[in-house]
Amino acid sequence: MSGRVLVAGGAGFLGSHLCRALCQEGFEVTCLDNLLTGREANIADLLGRRGFSFIKEDTAWLRDGQGTETIGPLDYIFHLASPASPRDYTTWPLETLLANAMGTYNLLQLARHSKARFVLASTSEVYGSPLIHPQLEDYWGNVNPVGVRSCYDEGKRYAEALSMAYFRQGLDVRVVRIFNTYGPGMRGGDGRVIPNFLSQAHAKEPLTIYGDGRQTRSFCYVSDLVVGLQAAMFTRGVSGEVLNLGNPEEVTILELAQLIKRLTGSPSELKFLPGVRDDPPRRCPDIRRANRLLGWKPTISLEEGLTRMLPGETET
Ligand code: UDP
Repeated sequence: MSGRVLVAGGAGFLGSHLCRALCQEGFEVTCLDNLLTGREANIADLLGRRGFSFIKEDTAWLRDGQGTETIGPLDYIFHLASPASPRDYTTWPLETLLANAMGTYNLLQLARHSKARFVLASTSEVYGSPLIHPQLEDYWGNVNPVGVRSCYDEGKRYAEALSMAYFRQGLDVRVVRIFNTYGPGMRGGDGRVIPNFLSQAHAKEPLTIYGDGRQTRSFCYVSDLVVGLQAAMFTRGVSGEVLNLGNPEEVTILELAQLIKRLTGSPSELKFLPGVRDDPPRRCPDIRRANRLLGWKPTISLEEGLTRMLPGETET
């Protein structure tokens, strides 16, 4: 395949895997990232490669058409530029709101001027503490608009609303709601449960469980998610669609801790800490729509994906 792609947030965990996959497919890729939570190390292997360029700027840099000359013509824009882990977005709430409000606006304007197709990376957090299970795209969610997570939840809900407004004015827009994703390249200190448990298990330190550990999550391995992101962008006839992307294999955090202990052979104990505010008690995607419209479904089980993250295993 060919074409010119902008990946905003391309030096982040997910963005860097996407940039790598797009380069391998033969696209010309520009990665835009302010490195607030992204890291140059994530794209070190791509720097200097033909067809790949990196611009260390914020999405605010695109304001009023600035930057468009530097970037040049574009066919596709992925917007992944936002802090995404609870620790990160509660540390940087204003940056998170602005990346999703002004950043989304600037990127949508760029898409309009370039006549580029646009994919918004939204999140399962738009469902908040869901009252239906598993979560279907038609569910409107149960979000605390003033809680600690609201910078991310409401930021993404605004980004979705803005993207759909552009769609209704003729832009080719697709919205994907990404559920918990894991794999190599997650920042050690980003606070998410899988990197936390893995590093604690390796260090033989207690695995920290917030609350009683009965809350559930459904974890998707990064390579599956990257295939889903590309399908959302490159499949014809899905403009204006909102699609859940995630792995419906649901586990409690306690089960996850026990699985990681077993796979690492770690003697770590489980340490129960106070629960986190507004922590969604259950989360699992209904992915029938993505399966029907994109022909997509994840292929890597949680056990297989975690095994790939262990030291000495092939990190792909
Ligand atoms: N969690 C935990 N221990 C940790 C980190 C997270 O028990 O060291 C829990 C957290 O409270 C949540 C789940 O694991 O219920 C997933 O948290 P994460 O920060 O990975 O992402 P979230 O799904 O909340 O966005």
